[in-house]
Amino acid sequence: MFNARNSPNYVAQVLQGVNAVSTKVQRTARPFTGVAPSALKAKVEAVDLDRPLPDTAAALDELDDLYLKDAIYFHDARYAAHLNCPVVIPALVGEAVLSAVNSSMDTWDQSAGATMIERRLIDWTAERIGFSAEADGVFTSGGSQSNFQALLIARNQAVAKLRATSPEVRLPHLLDRLRIFTSADSHFSIQKSASMLGLGFDAVIAVPTSEDHRMDPAALAAALAEAHDAGLVPMAVVATAGTTDFGSVDPLAEVSALVRAYDSWLHVDAAYGGGLLVSRRYRHLLDGIHVADSVTVDFHKTFFQPVSSSAVLVRRGAMLGHVTYYADYLNPESAAKADIPNQVDKSIQTTRRFDALKLWLTLRIMGADAIGVLFDEAIELAGRVGTLLAEDAEFELAAAPQLSTLVFRYRPFVDGVAVNDDAADLLNPAIRAAIFASGEAVVAGTKVAGHHYLKFTLLNAEASLGDIQEIIELIRRTGAGLLANTTEAAA
Ligand SMILES: *Cc1c(COP(=O)(O)O)cnc(C)c1O
Repeated sequence: MFNARNSPNYVAQVLQGVNAVSTKVQRTARPFTGVAPSALKAKVEAVDLDRPLPDTAAALDELDDLYLKDAIYFHDARYAAHLNCPVVIPALVGEAVLSAVNSSMDTWDQSAGATMIERRLIDWTAERIGFSAEADGVFTSGGSQSNFQALLIARNQAVAKLRATSPEVRLPHLLDRLRIFTSADSHFSIQKSASMLGLGFDAVIAVPTSEDHRMDPAALAAALAEAHDAGLVPMAVVATAGTTDFGSVDPLAEVSALVRAYDSWLHVDAAYGGGLLVSRRYRHLLDGIHVADSVTVDFHKTFFQPVSSSAVLVRRGAMLGHVTYYADYLNPESAAKADIPNQVDKSIQTTRRFDALKLWLTLRIMGADAIGVLFDEAIELAGRVGTLLAEDAEFELAAAPQLSTLVFRYRPFVDGVAVNDDAADLLNPAIRAAIFASGEAVVAGTKVAGHHYLKFTLLNAEASLGDIQEIIELIRRTGAGLLANTTEAAA
């Protein structure tokens, strides 16, 4: 950190940089400028990386032009697109400290107290889930990695069981029989994990959901029975606690009963819903999560932490042994025998950030309840926006909000009749693109039953109903304008 030769006044430079960014962030009047990729590409490419600027101030000025001026700002009340959060300040302090010290979490001799802090936070999270002291886990780079590690463990468990009865069969043949069951509304990292695990995308069986986008237990029962009859092995069932589009939480009790009946592995992907662990009002939505074999929690979503910060937890800590490999130069087996706490024994990463520090400082400065309140407020705002959209004849809400997302589309009336599906399918993505290009707001898009919808993901406790109403009016104005143009062109 204090490399005197390169940075005589490192701390002053850091403060200067932080100050410049915070001034910039406070000045931001809208979430985006609408800059085109080509404009920024040209500017970035024009920089001569072999000729440094005279000082930090010059570098920050340049950065302002290349990045900060046109960045996408999640703390702006009119950013309502993806599962990104405005970050809490204690976590930013943690970010500065962890980068400056630069601990690496792979071994005790590169981390010391950092390892103890990470372990304590894993235990704290496990307790919130309702796991016993037997549980364990590790921080990861994100929900996708957490899901991958959980499914890697599940796959190795399934293979170990198959090996017990058919030791002579080669691994590729065993893998060929494995299937993962997850709802049609689950996250695509399940398919990607299946691919990386040697099973292929099509080893994932999409279980239909009911009206409210929760996995239908009867459909899961049928899918499991069908696979079983075909001689296939249900390697894991992935339930989602907070689907990315609808915030729906799969019925954990019913799903887990089926998982036990088939001696499978229950992974709960709570990347989005994980923040409910600290909610006083909505913790009950996660009831039953404690019976999972593994759980994903993304602190960089509903715990308002900067990217990256996530964890995978396992009900039986010994299961993490599936990713243990000893190397003489790093984590020799003798170290494990001597009880030296090397976190790399539990992780699929080697060099790894001390991301846990951000959550630690957040809990020590703000406290868990304050984090829960931030999520509660986003959930309640989504409820109020849902009522507005449901009562507005020109908007069609795809489902009642369950956490803090809303999926809806604009369907105005032409000559007293709401535009049909085809027209709505052209109009809604065009509205989204036009608004993004204007920088006035950022909203997301998705498809429901093959049709284009718009989506709000609300995670900003400082956004008011009025702010979201402004976005709704912007959508209406933009849509009406686009519709008038197309009607004119057709006439
Ligand atoms: C965001 C999300 C993920 C992926 O998490 P990353 O941190 O983006 O890798 C997985 N599952 C669900 C349900 C999510 O919403």
